[in-house]
Amino acid sequence: MLLSGRKGVILGVANKRSIAWAIAKAAHDQGAELALTYANDRFKEGVVELGDSLGVKHYFPCDVGRDQEITALADSLKKTFGQLDFLVHAVAFAKKEELQGGYVDTSREGYLLAQEISSFSLTALCKACKPLLDRSGQAEGIERTASVLTLTYLGGQRVVPNYNVMGVAKAALEASVRYLAADLGPLGIRVNAVSAGPIKTLSAAGVSSFSTLLDQMPDRAPLRKNVTTEEVADASVFFLSEMARGVTGEVLFVDAGFHAMGL
Ligand code: NAD
Repeated sequence: MLLSGRKGVILGVANKRSIAWAIAKAAHDQGAELALTYANDRFKEGVVELGDSLGVKHYFPCDVGRDQEITALADSLKKTFGQLDFLVHAVAFAKKEELQGGYVDTSREGYLLAQEISSFSLTALCKACKPLLDRSGQAEGIERTASVLTLTYLGGQRVVPNYNVMGVAKAALEASVRYLAADLGPLGIRVNAVSAGPIKTLSAAGVSSFSTLLDQMPDRAPLRKNVTTEEVADASVFFLSEMARGVTGEVLFVDAGFHAMGL
């Protein structure tokens, strides 16, 4: 099993459609011991119910907009696991009114909120969890790496109608992946992103005309289909495992090849 004996935390499970939930299942199937977080009390019961079905024993609150909750999460993970082998960041948020119409009409508040929750949170989590992920103390040098993985979308690199402020947040997130990879690489911590194709989830429902994106994939993507959360999760497990021990600062598209197309 690819993640046998590995301990990790996954942020971003909201319900059974969440990409984070598919990653949790795939990581569990590969032998990982998991902790799951929930954004607030509204999500707690649903996350615990899902996690319990996998035998998950550790649940922590973490609103990534609050520094104290990020610090408390790192403290709890230290007490629970001692060391952390991986961290999955599958978190994003923008106001619904910012995900329609023209990007030019983005509000200051809407811009800052999308950046804070969807992009800066990765950096804040890496800072707080760095001591737990640090592999530089291994006797024989860095033999096993630690892995940080985030989720992004094509809208961070190209214009996708209505994705707007979230596209700009994903661009910042992808740049953060490269800067964090450079900072944390010497500690044996890899930082990567999976760029998923459109999938019907709670967050995606907030993007105006999202169903049009889904409808176009079977005609336009090289693999002639939409991707599933399971396909995204399998690629994610690769990054979390030592199979990807030589890979950092990377954005991997799991989108049935759609990103490769011009017209
Ligand atoms: P989702 O709604 O299931 O997951 C988003 C998660 O973000 C939820 O669990 C929510 O609780 C969490 N969240 C929002 N604000 C938060 C906060 N302040 N603190 C902590 N958590 C917070 O939707 P999803 O599609 O599974 O999204 C997961 C990731 O995948 C996101 O980064 C999203 O942008 C990305 N992504 C999604 C798609 C898609 O089409 N669904 C495509 C590419 C990338």
